[in-house]
Amino acid sequence: MLATIGPASDSPEMLRQLFQAGVTACRLNFSHGTHSDHAARIAKIRQVADEMGIAVPLIMDLCGPKVRTDTKSYDLKMGETWNLVPTEGDPALGKIGISHPTLYQLVPVGQAIVLDDGHLELRVERVEGTEIVCSVVTAGHLKPRKSVNTPECDNGLDVLSEKDQRDLNFGRDQGLDWVAVSFVRNGADIKRVRDYLTEIGWPDPPIIAKVETPLAVASLEEIVRLSDGIMVARGDLGIECPIETVPILQKRAVRLAHRYAKLCVVATQMLDSMERNPRPTRAEASDVANAVFEGAQVVMLSGETAGGQYPLQAVQTMDRILRGAEAVTDSPPTLPEISNQTLEIVAGSVRLSEHTKAPCIAIFCHTMEIARQIAGFHCGTHVIAACFDEQIYRQVALFYGIIPVRLPRTNSIDEAITRVLDEIQARDLATAGNRIVFMYSQPFGTRLHNTIRLVQMP
Ligand code: PEP
Repeated sequence: MLATIGPASDSPEMLRQLFQAGVTACRLNFSHGTHSDHAARIAKIRQVADEMGIAVPLIMDLCGPKVRTDTKSYDLKMGETWNLVPTEGDPALGKIGISHPTLYQLVPVGQAIVLDDGHLELRVERVEGTEIVCSVVTAGHLKPRKSVNTPECDNGLDVLSEKDQRDLNFGRDQGLDWVAVSFVRNGADIKRVRDYLTEIGWPDPPIIAKVETPLAVASLEEIVRLSDGIMVARGDLGIECPIETVPILQKRAVRLAHRYAKLCVVATQMLDSMERNPRPTRAEASDVANAVFEGAQVVMLSGETAGGQYPLQAVQTMDRILRGAEAVTDSPPTLPEISNQTLEIVAGSVRLSEHTKAPCIAIFCHTMEIARQIAGFHCGTHVIAACFDEQIYRQVALFYGIIPVRLPRTNSIDEAITRVLDEIQARDLATAGNRIVFMYSQPFGTRLHNTIRLVQMP
């Protein structure tokens, strides 16, 4: 369970309660807050995680190239004409300022322009100079700095805004664990982000591509292949695509993520009404359970934990729904495609654990790759991920069913196995005589997993 941390949840006491209640990872939403706000939250999350002896991955969620209206308010009435201008607007002149300097060159006549997360809608009538002349299709009051979406066309902006670039430098300095990228359109956008990360000397944070535009949907398979995980970001997806397509796209995205053994997060409005009420709606409960049935690895809370009135109740409720749904689901609807030797070995160790009724599979994570691959199988066995590096220890904790443990570095596989058996015993995950499936590389520490070994608990 990935919880967005904000003013409602960032005290050490609340964080401790949320982790005890089921939160396993924290999202920092860079659409809000300053670097000093985030730094203070990061310090508190790490302090509480250290005190509790748990691995809590920190996910930085970039704002992305979001176009916004200016700082004024406007009353838009049905059928009225309003011009979108690339400077400050003026309500008296019927002009609304937008933060995109050249949108007028890109939007075709007849195109919908959606404002304020879908609450208002305009239609492009014509373009006059640098002004987009629009008629109001859905009326309402437009507050300052609201979002401007153009679902039917690429707004041509760099996937990394200048703010995103500053935020990534901050994320690198803070040693954050995962990066979620907003408004990804295609594989080239993922490459652009990886190149930028290399350029700033942060070459290997895993990337979650947020699927939230029709362009991303059109290039979904390529995006899944090139990223480490995807997020079905239903907030913007439901604005950019017809609402009735959201559940279908979610199902397709989760399946594709499984096929390529990639992380998959289902996000936004999962328990939305719990921002204001202590109990969810029946539909929300079904939505959370359905994400489990579909095979999502991670479910996310946004406003419910960041700013809502009932953050702890939302987590407790989600935890109960997840446990109930998991109890009646075994494997995900699609298993990863076996496309290389490592996946053969992973599939083999999962099968072996089933046949031998092994209570645990143990893997050694010199990188996070092996954890990513085994998580895709949703095996019913505990997967102990022994990590020698602090950051990998936190990164792998985001994957489904992974129990990360920290080990001192060693070149000896026998020593590593003994330490893992001690951990399994200390955590009461198996009893004497149980067999444990170990999967590792020989020589130990190389990346190619080539060995499966059954070891009996002493
Ligand atoms: C979303 O749109 O669903 C999402 C997760 O992104 P954000 O919260 O940044 O809008």
